Amino acid sequence: MVDLKSQYARIKDVVNESIQEVLETTAFVNGPKVHEFQKNLEQYLNVKHVIPCANGTDALQIAMMGLGLKPGDEVITTDFTFAATVEVIALLQLTPVLVDVEPDTFNIDIDAIKNAITPNTKAIVPVHLFGQCANMEAIMEIARDNNLFVIEDNAQAIGANYTYKDGTKVKAGTIGDVSATSFFPSKNLGCYGDGGAIFTNNDELAHTIRGIVNHGMYERYHHDVVGVNSRLDAIQAAVLGAKLPNLDAYNKARIDAANKYDAAFKDEKHIVTPFRSGAEDNHVFHQYTLKVTGVDRDALTKYLNENDIPCGVYYPIPLHNQKAYLDERYNESDFKVTNQLVKEVISLPMHTELDDDQIEYITSKVKAFING
Ligand SMILES: *Cc1c(COP(=O)(O)O)cnc(C)c1O
Repeated sequence: MVDLKSQYARIKDVVNESIQEVLETTAFVNGPKVHEFQKNLEQYLNVKHVIPCANGTDALQIAMMGLGLKPGDEVITTDFTFAATVEVIALLQLTPVLVDVEPDTFNIDIDAIKNAITPNTKAIVPVHLFGQCANMEAIMEIARDNNLFVIEDNAQAIGANYTYKDGTKVKAGTIGDVSATSFFPSKNLGCYGDGGAIFTNNDELAHTIRGIVNHGMYERYHHDVVGVNSRLDAIQAAVLGAKLPNLDAYNKARIDAANKYDAAFKDEKHIVTPFRSGAEDNHVFHQYTLKVTGVDRDALTKYLNENDIPCGVYYPIPLHNQKAYLDERYNESDFKVTNQLVKEVISLPMHTELDDDQIEYITSKVKAFING
């Protein structure tokens, strides 16, 4: 699904040199490399505060801790995402409230959010799924009207733009009260291990969060709140610092590959190519995900694998049907879209190194199965 080897081959010298600096200085935890990456990412995103941490799941958890959410508070999020999003809500003893998604963008449905709000609702967690922002303008309006926090799960959309109705562009992850991202190797900005970060424009919240990631310490050995130990290590920061200047080019390479896939599938009756809600740079294709209709999706997956084409189903089971997150308040009829999507979606290889021959091979095999 991803080709990290070829990508590394192209940036080997810069990455190696950056890692070497960490080895020479032995500043393995915090230190100048982490600080430098943090500052460069703040500048790239045009956000006041980036707080690096150990992984994307921690970033989500810490963001929620920073907002002071309390057990029993209801947090609305999407039924169609990676489990980490709902996992941290449950871990903090908050009450996850899963809602359905839009059939075209796969992102959280605005009316479903409105219908799920109760007096106990405290926050909304939109996930910018597969690299495209949720409808943030509508979500921020609901949040304002109902006095709710918005925590963006930006693990799949770093570097994507969000375009407001008036044409203003901002970076994904800089719109809500706080957001969380992941630097897992396969993400659009990936390190060579685990890493994550929290972004916010709120000075007070940033201060609170900087303490939480460091055992709740604001002054050495004074523990004011219960915190965690969640750090981005300097070797990962060295990798990320070397890769950040390429992020726009990496995302462009993904968009170019998506355009070629789209073109190859444009006349296929059984294939729905990914919907894009705005300008070309609004979708950075963490995944290239088709909907196939009137086709045995699982047989297609098997056929592609037999032809050495990796592919994936993200996600095969809706979260509301996962044992850990069952809740008697849910009705199947509230999840019509997700229940359908889990049967129809298939993600094709998507990374920064896809060439025309590979795309031609992949698309010809998909078409051969569907029409053959
Ligand atoms: C990858 C991912 C996470 C978790 O990130 P980790 O760094 O693996 O902990 C959270 N949410 C979404 C939507 C993700 O894709």
